[in-house]
Amino acid sequence: MDLKLDPDDLNTCVQCGLCLPHCPTFRVTGDEAMSPRGRIQLMREVQDNDAPVDDDVLRSFASCVQCRGCEPACPSSVPYGHLMERTRETLADAKLMTPGWQRLAFLPLANPKLLQAGSAALAVANKLHLVPKRLGLPEEIRVDQKPIIASGDDVYFFTGCVMDAWQREVHHAGVRNLEAAGFGVTPTNELAPCCGALQAHAGLAGQTRTLAEQMMGNLSVDTRPIVVDSAGCGAAMKDYGHLLGTPEAKAFSERVFDIQEFLALHLEKLPAVSALDVRVAVQDPCHLRHVQRVHEATRTVLRPFVRELVELDDDGLCCGAGGAYSVLEPELAGDIRDRKVAAIDQVTPDLVASANPGCAMHLAGAGVPTIHPMEIVDRALRGI
Ligand code: SF4
Ligand code: SF4
Repeated sequence: MDLKLDPDDLNTCVQCGLCLPHCPTFRVTGDEAMSPRGRIQLMREVQDNDAPVDDDVLRSFASCVQCRGCEPACPSSVPYGHLMERTRETLADAKLMTPGWQRLAFLPLANPKLLQAGSAALAVANKLHLVPKRLGLPEEIRVDQKPIIASGDDVYFFTGCVMDAWQREVHHAGVRNLEAAGFGVTPTNELAPCCGALQAHAGLAGQTRTLAEQMMGNLSVDTRPIVVDSAGCGAAMKDYGHLLGTPEAKAFSERVFDIQEFLALHLEKLPAVSALDVRVAVQDPCHLRHVQRVHEATRTVLRPFVRELVELDDDGLCCGAGGAYSVLEPELAGDIRDRKVAAIDQVTPDLVASANPGCAMHLAGAGVPTIHPMEIVDRALRGI
């Protein structure tokens, strides 16, 4: 079967295995088929030798968290994330992956009204304790939250879909911090309802391309920076250049900044205040560390505002959230999370700063006291 992978990309892998210790699914299973090297070999066998796409092959591909922890570890610079996204797209097009119910579940993301209705239903189910605790949903999903009001036109602030519906208080903290640094903020709201990251992970890259084109059309009336407080969304938007392959998409991607990355560039503009008396462990979301590679900015921004920052001794291994992965692969996601929780327990922090909503919810499901870095800065600036 032609997986539509670039043979040059596929052949870049020399099967050295240096990526294996950085792969969470290999670490918890010890199974070669659950490693980057094993998955790349299966891609080759399917594409080059017409090997059948049987249940074992599908299991290997479906179990990848798409954390891309293997990429920085690879001396040959294999573009693993793009290989896996393309593989999933081809298999989803052939109806071998991503069943109809999953495709339906993604529909509300691009439709704010549907998402609000779905969130209201979920809020009721959550209150009635009908939603499994391990999903780590906020105790209270507040669907009628205070809107974000535009305060100027220096930067766009990407509001997105699920995070805006369930964690808008994080958005408010981020916007207050940008304003404290002197930036007037325009929330994107209906101009950019969804970045399409979850859809691309599920092999529905066609939907992601449609959303990317819609967003680019609406936000390209000027060239101001687009600031994002979700690591996964920022990574997806920085990849539009590759996804669409046009100079316009590339130029758009270059305007996208993770909010910690943006504020680290303007740190001197934030007011000097007393640090919070807390010991904070930084949990690097994979899409900030391995994909955007701007995770150091989180430390730069947090350092003046907390008593102590501590590092986890796990080389940034994935926490197992992986977008919808924790829902679709709960056992593996739980095993991977156990390792992260053990690394956190070793450093006994008061708070764990995570710049991705999926990671924060997944870890909160295990009782970890997670908080977005922007909420910490906001608390320090407001003295609360
Ligand atoms: S993306 Fe993550 S889970 Fe998938 S092969 Fe690479 S390291 Fe392993
Ligand atoms: S992906 Fe890179 S690190 Fe992993 S086996 Fe292939 S060449 Fe080696």
